[in-house]
Amino acid sequence: MSGPAKKPQEASHSNFIRSAIEADLANGKHASRGWGGQPGPAKSHEGAPADPAKIRTRFPPEPNGYLHIGHAKSIFLNFGLARDYGGACHLRFDDTNPEKEEQEYVDSIIEAVKWLGFSWEHEGVSNLYYASDYFDFMFYAAECLIEKGHAYVDSLSAEQMRVLRGSLTEPGKESPYRLRGSEENLKLFHQMRDGRFKEGEHVLRAKIDMASPNINLRDPAIYRIRKATHHRSGDKWCVYPMYTYAHPIEDALERITHSLCTLEFEDQRPFYDWLLARLAEDGLFARPLPQQIEFARLNLTYVILSKRKLIELVEEKHVDGWDDPRMPTLVGARRRGYTPEGLRLFAERIGVSKADSWIDYSVLEDCMREHLNEVAPRRMAVLDPVKLVIENYPEGKEEFAEVPNHPQKPDWGKRQVPFSRELWIEREDYMETPSKGYFRLFPGNKVRLRYGYVVECIGHDKSTGAVRCTYDPDTKSGTPGAEKVKVKGNIHWVSAMHACAAEVRLYDRLFKVPHPESFADLNPDSKKIITAQLEPALKQSKAEERFQFERHGYFIADRIDPGSGAPEFNRAVTLRDTWQK
Ligand code: ATP
Ligand code: MG
Repeated sequence: MSGPAKKPQEASHSNFIRSAIEADLANGKHASRGWGGQPGPAKSHEGAPADPAKIRTRFPPEPNGYLHIGHAKSIFLNFGLARDYGGACHLRFDDTNPEKEEQEYVDSIIEAVKWLGFSWEHEGVSNLYYASDYFDFMFYAAECLIEKGHAYVDSLSAEQMRVLRGSLTEPGKESPYRLRGSEENLKLFHQMRDGRFKEGEHVLRAKIDMASPNINLRDPAIYRIRKATHHRSGDKWCVYPMYTYAHPIEDALERITHSLCTLEFEDQRPFYDWLLARLAEDGLFARPLPQQIEFARLNLTYVILSKRKLIELVEEKHVDGWDDPRMPTLVGARRRGYTPEGLRLFAERIGVSKADSWIDYSVLEDCMREHLNEVAPRRMAVLDPVKLVIENYPEGKEEFAEVPNHPQKPDWGKRQVPFSRELWIEREDYMETPSKGYFRLFPGNKVRLRYGYVVECIGHDKSTGAVRCTYDPDTKSGTPGAEKVKVKGNIHWVSAMHACAAEVRLYDRLFKVPHPESFADLNPDSKKIITAQLEPALKQSKAEERFQFERHGYFIADRIDPGSGAPEFNRAVTLRDTWQK
């Protein structure tokens, strides 16, 4: 799946999933579905009023980690389709695997989905579900399969089973235990549940076809023994359903119409359909059954989108936790200053397709710039400060510059920014000996102090390092004749006696290469901590307020320093792409 990253087309709202849904709606496939008000088997929906949700989709995370930007693609897709077609989208915790799941992850997932702007409520029903609540039904469904001869208890070792499974080129061979009668199977299955065996001693397998060209149909395991405590059901169970068995049942109980998943599940679709068809024959589910549709997962350059790898980054302390602003997690993106609207724009722009590809990280950054440009007020901040002294400006005097809060939005008004004899400017805005094409401060050159005066540089003070200049009192921005003196450079500043010093963290991409292979590819410059000088208005920022620091980029107020009361800022994204080759 590597290869050159491509820039996606502009959002084309229609895609193959929308076409499938529109066709189903047009021919009324789901119109007669009853909905008993909560998940359940066929009989609980029978005779119930028609489902008020025209379609049902679901977002089914396993609560074994924090959500990442790949999950956001799935959230926008599933919740977006439900919203657009008068349907409901369920938030379902796929918590059938007892070992790795925790309440902490459940809470963070709920928070993340809300942050992206979605709700699982539909017509007064909260569609928030836990797959573990269906354990009783799943066990019952397995008993039904056994009774109908569709499942058997196998007592081979995992290794023996692997050998008999065959390969892509060779058919599998049947296990000697495949011939067990239903009564014996049922008894063994109950004994498995009752804790009479050790882990791995027996498994329950679906009885399908050991010669199938699709290996997933060669009698897949559907229940295994696990003596583990589950984060919700505790020690009630010591047998747990396999994901591939549990997932179709969860969908069917919830009357999901379109079950969207990533492409790696394409080979599982025949089993998904086989299982639901058997259970429908037995009257456990009514038709129409849910339909699985696969789409390409998001692969994003310069980061990794795998919960397992993200856990390693946290545990090996390559980052400062799940919400480190460099992390591609949604909690990280939030602290980075990324916006839900920017992520939505990104999801629309990359679209949905049937073929795996890589999306370049710059596409995400551009979406953030686009949205932040709209919503972030402008402020002045000097990140690498050096003093500028205006020698002919009276000592102790202060006045105010009128500064627009957003150059394209006059209705956002202007603010008064204090100006005085000593200012902070960026170190790189002065050169003792200018390089070719340098238009900012150098001895003999004039620049405009943004929203203030034109100043002429007279060099710098060798002992303090301060840059020296004089100003022209007739050039104050906004006063008549101010534009008479033409200059090429235009630099920002902060009045030294009014400035607020604050910690600013300059974040950059987590990995230094587009397709990271290991943690050796981590970008050593992904986090730089500096002390910046900010214009005084920024001192009042509230947590999560976002700004454009003029000429620098977009920043978010993160923690408020309890000592100084001043916020710390994180850089979300620079104004321009600095990674372009
Ligand atoms: P990971 O591989 O990171 O652990 P996962 O697929 O195991 O992810 P789940 O919690 O099972 O994580 O995912 C919940 C939903 O999010 C699934 O429907 C899955 O298809 C979808 N999803 C996960 N990763 C991506 C991705 N990179 N792009 C699009 N959808 C994704
Ligand atoms: Mg998964």
